[in-house]
Amino acid sequence: MAKFIVVKCKCGNEQKIFAAPAMNVQCRVCNELLAQPTGGGAALLGKHIKDAE
Ligand SMILES: [Zn+2]
Repeated sequence: MAKFIVVKCKCGNEQKIFAAPAMNVQCRVCNELLAQPTGGGAALLGKHIKDAE
């Protein structure tokens, strides 16, 4: 599993985030919630574009 993933917000911003965040991840452009922490990884609210290094 990739450590970082790229998600796309509904505003169009693509953002690289940690695949298993410890806290909520928000879009840096519009502050939309992109991912929430779960026991085993992120619950994505944005669209998963690709894995990142
Ligand atoms: Zn956004």
